[in-house]
Amino acid sequence: MIVLKNSRELAKMREAGRVSARALRLAGEAVQPGVTTAEIDAVVRRYIEGQGAKPSFLGYGGFPASACISVNNVVIHGIPSKKIVLKEGDIVSVDVGACLDGFHGDNAYTFACGKVSAQAQALMDATRKSLYAAIEAAKAGARIGDIGSTVQRYVEARNYSVVRDFVGHGVGAKLHEDPSVPNFGTPGRGVRLLPGMTIAIEPMINQGTHRVKILDDEWTTVTADGKLSAHYEHTIAITPSGPQILTLAD
Ligand code: MG
Repeated sequence: MIVLKNSRELAKMREAGRVSARALRLAGEAVQPGVTTAEIDAVVRRYIEGQGAKPSFLGYGGFPASACISVNNVVIHGIPSKKIVLKEGDIVSVDVGACLDGFHGDNAYTFACGKVSAQAQALMDATRKSLYAAIEAAKAGARIGDIGSTVQRYVEARNYSVVRDFVGHGVGAKLHEDPSVPNFGTPGRGVRLLPGMTIAIEPMINQGTHRVKILDDEWTTVTADGKLSAHYEHTIAITPSGPQILTLAD
C-alpha cells in the first residue's frame, strides 16, 4: 500500500531529511586516510541523537550500526568496524537515515578518500548524475519505470551496470514503504507517481558485472567480480510542481 503524505507530513519529512543530510555531510567530512569506519559511524550517531532524532538503521533488521559504510567493492550494507581503516584512493559509500518526529529521511553518497583513480571518479560521477537525472524524471503523472529506465540508460551508455538485487523504495513513517523503486525498467511502465508520494531513489552502480553476493555476516554486499561500486540516494517528494528533494542539508 502506498501512503500519500499531506503538507504537514511533508514538512516533518523535510526536517527528518535535513537531519539525515547533515549527518551524511559530517560523515563525508570524516572520510580521511587512517580513519576507521567505526569512527565515521560514531560521528553519524552522535549528530543524529544530538538532534533528538534516531538513527533509522540502528537495530533495523538487526543491523548493528547507525550508518552503512561500504568501501570500494562493497555495494551496500557495509558494517562499520574498528578493523576497517580507510586509505588513500578508497571510495566510501555512506548510507544514513534519521527518524525525527515519526518520519524518516534516507540518503547516501559515495565519498572519495583523498585522491582516487580517474576510473573511480568516473564511476562516482556517472552514478551521482544518474540519480539527478532520475529525480528529474520523477514528475507527477510519470511512472516508476521512467525513474529506473533513466538511471539504466544513463549508466549503461557509459558501460556500467545496474545492481538488480537491491532497489529504492517508498519512505515515510516507515523506512521502507511501497512502492519499490528499481534502478532499471521500461519507460511508461509501473506504478503512476502521484503528488504526496515520498520515495528514496538510490542507484547502486557497478564498474563490472551487476551481480552481487552477500558475505557471511549476512549484510555486507559486494560485487561478484570484486570491481568498484558507487551509491547515491535522496529521499524526494512528488509534488504538483515537480519533484522536491527532502534530504537537503541547507
Ligand atoms: Mg534507502
